[in-house]
Amino acid sequence: MIREYTKEAFAETFLQSKNKSGVHDEGVLRTAKEVLEDIRLNGDAAVKKYTAKFDGEVPESWEVLPEERKQAWHEVPQDVISALQKAAENIRRFHAKQLQNSRIMEMNENIISGQLFRPVEKAGIYVPGGTACYPSSVLMNAIPAVLAGVEEVIMATPARNGTKIAPVLSVAADIAGVGTIYKLGGIQAIGALAYGTETIPKVDKIVGPGNAYVAAAKSLVYGTVGIDMIAGPSEVAIIADENANPVYIAADLIAQAEHDERARTFLFTTSQKLINETKSALEKQLVVLPRRDIGEVSIKMQSAAVLVESIDEAFALSNRLAPEHLEIQVENPLLQLSKVKNAGSVFLGENTPEAIGDYYGGPNHILPTSGTARFSSGLSVDDFYKKITYLYYGEKALQQAAPDVMAIATEEQLAGHARAVQKRVKG
Ligand code: NAD
Repeated sequence: MIREYTKEAFAETFLQSKNKSGVHDEGVLRTAKEVLEDIRLNGDAAVKKYTAKFDGEVPESWEVLPEERKQAWHEVPQDVISALQKAAENIRRFHAKQLQNSRIMEMNENIISGQLFRPVEKAGIYVPGGTACYPSSVLMNAIPAVLAGVEEVIMATPARNGTKIAPVLSVAADIAGVGTIYKLGGIQAIGALAYGTETIPKVDKIVGPGNAYVAAAKSLVYGTVGIDMIAGPSEVAIIADENANPVYIAADLIAQAEHDERARTFLFTTSQKLINETKSALEKQLVVLPRRDIGEVSIKMQSAAVLVESIDEAFALSNRLAPEHLEIQVENPLLQLSKVKNAGSVFLGENTPEAIGDYYGGPNHILPTSGTARFSSGLSVDDFYKKITYLYYGEKALQQAAPDVMAIATEEQLAGHARAVQKRVKG
């Protein structure tokens, strides 16, 4: 059951411990390194070898063929298709506001400078498919890429029993505008997309969540390709006052806990009564949870309820934690928004469970975990742009700038730099 912590004990346990994400697990990293190196050197043969080892069977073709994609539409219930289409519309509308135009920073007769926004040419999107199947992750990964103008959006997801991907993933890929889908999972998927093989193209950037093996592999290929982030276990923090509904709070904590035994759930509240009532609501709701075994371990091992003196104190703790998801369940939640300094995504008020954001509302659900929201942000259209700066100096501008540039170059003892300007100085 959810454990109660004092502020001090919470800080000691959750704000100082290091290496929370599986990326830092030495065994996982060692496996990822070995597999990646083999794929880099031996291409498809190595991808096959490790797919057989980790996923059981090797698909006949890596690619999900057009007829399989067409057939998938007949295998998914119409209400699910319609829900995914509406979700995609919301996600598209939200992310379209993130589009950027190339811009001029300065322009006069002597100087022109600016910034070009150019999409990444090929993006690989990873959609987890080991223990569950996440069509929502297809939409969240692919829609920003397509909006940014990425030419080739290539999706990788493991096949079930080595043969088929879940039809709903294929349908979601069609709705989102994914070009090619490969039946590839785990380290093999990341290695194949990062290095390219005889049959799988090398991409420029790989995005998307996954288990500890996927996260470790992404951390190791960074530099050869770009990555969005290194995801650790999912987490939610809820800030609640005495008027919050314990049944809703318990439901939202469980929604997070059912993801993964390592998922983390936190409640910061001014009310001991709310903590007590949340505990009994958790007990009742966990009993009837299909993924009860996972949810119970997560709540028992990775959750905390902290009684605070004020809502401001709750924000202070939450800001230090920098949670992936933050729910604010207090009166007038919008007025509290200015207190948020670190969080991946914020859900305001009792009618906005995180689940709305996970699937439907518009903002992205691929978010920074393990405290990395202190310095990074969730997936957005921005992740698929390169920002190229440019500069033009006319003759007069160069003549004026020359003494300053030569002074700095000389101070840095780079005579060649000084000379490159000096050669152009007139008179
Ligand atoms: P996954 O697709 O990430 O991983 C499955 C792959 O892992 C397999 O194909 C296999 O190749 C590899 N693998 C499994 N055991 C291995 C081993 N012992 N050695 C080497 N490779 C191995 O699917 P998953 O395992 O179900 O994990 C999904 C994760 O993604 C969960 O942690 C879930 O919480 C997370 N997730 C996050 C979000 C988000 O937006 N943050 C969304 C959905 C899912």
